[in-house]
Amino acid sequence: MEKKRLEYYKKKLLTRRDELVKTITRTEEEGRQADDDPTVDLADKAANSYTKEFLFGQTSSDRNILHMIDEALKRIRGNEYGNCAICHEEMQQKRLEAVPWAKLCISCQEKMEQGLL
Ligand SMILES: [Zn+2]
Repeated sequence: MEKKRLEYYKKKLLTRRDELVKTITRTEEEGRQADDDPTVDLADKAANSYTKEFLFGQTSSDRNILHMIDEALKRIRGNEYGNCAICHEEMQQKRLEAVPWAKLCISCQEKMEQGLL
């Protein structure tokens, strides 16, 4: 991949990474505060644990993306970025534009989801 495009995706990845780290930190902070609040009654506690579960699910998917972004940045450093990890074809720009941390091309991704790989 051209250096210019590579830099472009790298910037995109780093920006997204930054946002995710901020969101995760904030969500965890909110979860902790809800826990520490002594004025919360039982009904609120139930609502709270629901919220916490939701927040937890939220952070865990954020963490997943964060992990994939880190992997993508590693691939940039290793000069492997933009090629599908399975068929090794160069991925479409459209695909990378939508999901810059994508590891597989669309057709491999689909096969993977159908359990064919
Ligand atoms: Zn592929």
